[in-house]
Amino acid sequence: MPAPAAKPHLVFFPFPSQGHITPAFQLARLLHHCHGFDVTFVHTEHNRRRLLRARGPDALAGAPGFRFVAVPDGLPPSDEDASRDVEALLLSLPTMVPHFKELVLSELPAASCRRLLVSDVDPILRAAEEIGLPCVTFWITSASSFMAMQQIRHLVAKGLVPLKDAEQLRNGYLDSTVIDWAPGLPKGMRLRDFPTFIRTTDPDDAVLALTLRSTECYRTVPSAVVFHTFEELESQVISAMSDILPPIYAIGPLPLLLREAGGASAGSSLSKENRACLDWLDGKRPNSVVFASFGSLVKLTGEQLAELAWGLASSGYEFLWVIRSDQKATGAAGGTALLPPEFLEETEGRGCVTSWCPQEAVLRHGAVGAFLTHCGWNSMLESVCAGVPMLCWPFAADQQTNSRMACTEWRVGVELSEDPGREEVEAAIRQVMGGGRAEEMRRSAAEWKDKAALAAGPGGSSWVNLERVVNEVLAPLM
Ligand code: UDP
Repeated sequence: MPAPAAKPHLVFFPFPSQGHITPAFQLARLLHHCHGFDVTFVHTEHNRRRLLRARGPDALAGAPGFRFVAVPDGLPPSDEDASRDVEALLLSLPTMVPHFKELVLSELPAASCRRLLVSDVDPILRAAEEIGLPCVTFWITSASSFMAMQQIRHLVAKGLVPLKDAEQLRNGYLDSTVIDWAPGLPKGMRLRDFPTFIRTTDPDDAVLALTLRSTECYRTVPSAVVFHTFEELESQVISAMSDILPPIYAIGPLPLLLREAGGASAGSSLSKENRACLDWLDGKRPNSVVFASFGSLVKLTGEQLAELAWGLASSGYEFLWVIRSDQKATGAAGGTALLPPEFLEETEGRGCVTSWCPQEAVLRHGAVGAFLTHCGWNSMLESVCAGVPMLCWPFAADQQTNSRMACTEWRVGVELSEDPGREEVEAAIRQVMGGGRAEEMRRSAAEWKDKAALAAGPGGSSWVNLERVVNEVLAPLM
């Protein structure tokens, strides 16, 4: 009798920052929990230390058939902030490649199990190709931003990027240049709405070169691309994408799919969560609180912090504000110590400032009326799932594209300018919380919330697509 086939083994290797780890972990949990795949989830040494510090050994305990491993990344052991600096993270990637190869070749040899890599790290996908490991790209941000990234090579070919001179960044050129030829993207997309990697005047810009290289990799190396979005939200761009990509699957929002599958408590937070802010919200009226949070990497300047503080203060609304501990002004401590004392006096009892919160639960709390966000994709999807309108203040990378989609296509957000002053912040808060556009935006947000729930529920588009991933991409491994 032939020996039973070994179970296929999935190796998850997400880019080592919170916004990538969270959805990768959710997908890994789903494929393990509902579909019985064995999983090796790869962290970096730096993040392993952070997880242990924040949440103790339970954070890495695993389960039968699900284990965590960590590869060296060369980041300094003591420097907490290194893991929140995108450039340091990007530079650390090549260090991990030999360790990743070693892990696959020595611990998961092809002879003992069938394996597949799920990753969004270009050098790791290329390494997999080199050692003959099949792979799938898991694109953890919007499909629109993927398409916008793919257009960068065309922007270069048409001579629009790199920019001619720094003046173009200041004189409205990014606003007035409309790109109406990008497949599946809105016709009114401005250059400003494209990922910020194009904002350079240097033809040899390292980040631009890296972006071009990785977009080519995502298009050509994997056998499929899995998107953390849902078809109804990005239908046009998803259908345009099928012309340029291997098979694609939209399988989000994962927090909802996980909840449907009974696997809700999938913690992957690298920082300790302050759950007391949920108690603080319990005492508030429905839709009365502005929630402000800028993800895991964005750092505001001292001036931006002050302008935001005074905008929140003069709006008159109650607020919950995440100021991470690494968000330090030069030499100062983090948190409320960064805020003007007069602001703290004026808003005493009206605001709650914390260094890290259980954001998904916060957004689902009925007291939250609007979300002031940097437009990181997880934050936006969490807001869509909760039906909360957004104040969009994009900083970098894909955030500009996400903001554009939320504000002009899905009509669930109001966009702030790049460096909003206190009056602008105040006016936008008033507009979303109770002013002219509040009702329209709440209605749109509620509609998208329902559509997201339908997509993630049994028989919904994402539910079906996840089954398709299992049957069309993973089953051939069995
Ligand atoms: N987050 C959190 N608590 C906080 C702030 C953020 O749990 O206080 C989570 C948030 O829910 C999201 C992730 O951190 O899942 C940030 O990812 P996102 O894509 O929004 O932004 P990034 O950090 O990649 O810029």
